[in-house]
Amino acid sequence: MNGIHHELVALLGADAVVAGDDPAATRYLSDATESRAIRGRADAVALPADATAVASVVSWCYEHDVPLVPRGGGTGYAGGAVPGDGGVVLALERLTSPPETEPAQWRARFPAGTITADARRHVRECGLFLPVDPGSAEQSTIGGNVATNAGGPHSFKYGVTGVWVTGLQVVVAPGQLIELGGPVRKDVAGYDLRSLLVGSEGTLGIVTAARYKLIPAPVAELPVAALYPDPESGCDAVAGVLAAGLVPATLEFLDGAALAASARSLAAALRGLGPEATSAARFLVLCEADGDAEPAAALRRELQELLGERAIAVHAPTDRREIARLWHWREGVSPAVIAQRGRKLSEDIVVPVERFAEALAELASIGRRHRLETCSWGHAGDGNLHATFMIDRDDDEQVARAEAAAQELFDLAIRLGGSVSGEHGVGLVKRGALSRQWDAAAVALHEQIKRAFDPKGLLNPGKKLAR
Ligand SMILES: Cc1cc2nc3c(=O)[nH]c(=O)nc-3n(C[C@H](O)[C@H](O)[C@H](O)COP(=O)(O)OP(=O)(O)OC[C@H]3O[C@@H](n4cnc5c(N)ncnc54)[C@H](O)[C@@H]3O)c2cc1C
Repeated sequence: MNGIHHELVALLGADAVVAGDDPAATRYLSDATESRAIRGRADAVALPADATAVASVVSWCYEHDVPLVPRGGGTGYAGGAVPGDGGVVLALERLTSPPETEPAQWRARFPAGTITADARRHVRECGLFLPVDPGSAEQSTIGGNVATNAGGPHSFKYGVTGVWVTGLQVVVAPGQLIELGGPVRKDVAGYDLRSLLVGSEGTLGIVTAARYKLIPAPVAELPVAALYPDPESGCDAVAGVLAAGLVPATLEFLDGAALAASARSLAAALRGLGPEATSAARFLVLCEADGDAEPAAALRRELQELLGERAIAVHAPTDRREIARLWHWREGVSPAVIAQRGRKLSEDIVVPVERFAEALAELASIGRRHRLETCSWGHAGDGNLHATFMIDRDDDEQVARAEAAAQELFDLAIRLGGSVSGEHGVGLVKRGALSRQWDAAAVALHEQIKRAFDPKGLLNPGKKLAR
């Protein structure tokens, strides 16, 4: 038992601490970036049961100059929850007391360890809707969503996590448990510290609970999927939806390689269209019309018509099981892409929507220059693409090439007026990219904010660094 492990056991009890070299700690040393071989080392993993215990861990670490890395579901794509060389992984997964839901006031408060999909299902049973739906919803947590300001397909209409969070319970250095915001839907009394914590990737404080405002659940949710022979006609269709002023809940896309990677489940999801249509498709647009029954049905018809103008085929199921099959396929795209060669390197750049087609074309040429197969999918309506380089399982040289290609992707996003990250954050993997995107004075403010919250630099060190 090392010293840190020993001290934490005294603080939390033996069943709430795992030594860093224990095989049970292995799953806390990586996140979804593991296919890029990103993995760290920790002295101990702390698994506190409540917010007070979280505060005591932060206090102890701060007093003893021990770095700590907060962790939710470990689904992050930026290496944010991966420890560097030692310190404590602070796993929030046991903060799962029942949510406090106030259906009549359209709001709920969730402990940080609540699984995203459980939170969504819970409020749905109360007739309410929590729109944030990252593709990782069955594993990611409320705390992780807040820390990364997570989005997802429904962000096109409803916005990302920060839009819905009205209050946070947070442990800040050197170990105080504080409330930021609250149940109110408006609050301009001070600087917006709550918003500063949202998206801070565990570098400013530890989120122990979050209050969400909610909306009544839509009565109808009707998808429309359209297949195109090439990216140009697909991108024109996306632009057409925006130009027509239609507001679907989602406006997603997949390119030909992403469709090919998930071909089998795609064929099952689009069973009604027949194999010719799916095999000829090189681009897919996926929308959802939601709301009350009649307006949703009317929007569905408009989308079918508009998307159908240059499409090979349009699939607009109304049967519950068929709809579920379609979303099930969409959720499986990322693992299906990994399965192609064993690994992938994916970056979540975002560009102004009118530069979207250009970004896709440039991704292909970056891939060609670096001799890497590419594919992409994501949130077309937000200009947010998961630009992906496919990598053979055992080929580290390809990883090095993909890392170099990712740097070109960041330059591309900045050149087109976008950002190096639309969803996954900076974490470890985009360290330094922000200083290419922001003015020097803004970078200096970024660094001053970090120092104000974390003067000793112990909260998730090495993450979200601007340079
Ligand atoms: C298949 C798949 C699909 C995905 N789809 C989407 C998507 O559609 N949209 C999207 O935005 N993201 C997506 N992601 C990325 C990821 O799932 C989200 O960022 C998610 O919100 C991370 O939650 P988590 O609990 O897994 O956090 P983790 O991975 O554990 O941590 C992420 C970051 O948050 C910090 N953190 C975690 N919990 C806390 C806490 N309580 N307090 C302070 N800091 C904390 C960590 O230190 C780390 O920096 C996807 C990932 C996968 C694997």
